[in-house]
Amino acid sequence: VRFEDFGLSADILRALADQGYIHPTPIQAEAIPIVLQGRDVMGAAQTGTGKTAGFSLPIIQRLLAHASTSASPARHPVRALILTPTRELADQVADNVKAYSRHTPLRSAVVFGGVDMAPQTVALRAGVEILIATPGRLLDHVQQKTLNLSQTQILVLDEADRMLDMGFLPDLQRIINLLPKQRQNLMFSATFSPDIKKLAGSFLQNPVTIEV
Ligand code: AMP
Repeated sequence: VRFEDFGLSADILRALADQGYIHPTPIQAEAIPIVLQGRDVMGAAQTGTGKTAGFSLPIIQRLLAHASTSASPARHPVRALILTPTRELADQVADNVKAYSRHTPLRSAVVFGGVDMAPQTVALRAGVEILIATPGRLLDHVQQKTLNLSQTQILVLDEADRMLDMGFLPDLQRIINLLPKQRQNLMFSATFSPDIKKLAGSFLQNPVTIEV
């Protein structure tokens, strides 16, 4: 399998060439076509498997292919939201998304706690299509009204097991309630505890399970 086989845009393929990626990893080969179809995904994958590109590349492709559905006051509404448990992971995912979308018009930003909110607020006010965030700080921005999630069509929960371990379940539920009901959901977890299965059952719709 080659990246060219997935029907990704030339701008994405160029970014992959810049990164020096030649072959998709197993999880990428499985996940990319399924995410491109718009299906919900329950992914069992550890860090180091290439899961970040596995969800980021098809998300970027879908945002490029489908213009924002309804007129929005913001020129760049958040259309994909990627939640991570820690600022380190948020930063890593954001670096990946920036690299893969660098030749496209899509904009991205990252917000996490423990740092000044003001520079994040400036980025959100300017508008981004792809937002990477930790749950608590995301809700702080919603409360400050610098962030509107009414146009968010794709939600990713990355390292969902760690998010539950860190006590983010109430925050996740509040965030999910802010999103449109009609959307695509992707959830990745290294482990499958009963709590993870319950979370998956509560918000994934007819998910495809991917294990590598
Ligand atoms: P991840 O599991 O998403 O944290 O990715 C692990 C590492 O593999 C990161 O440094 C990625 O940049 C790199 N990577 C992801 N996909 C590929 C690929 N198809 N070819 C080579 N390196 C990759």
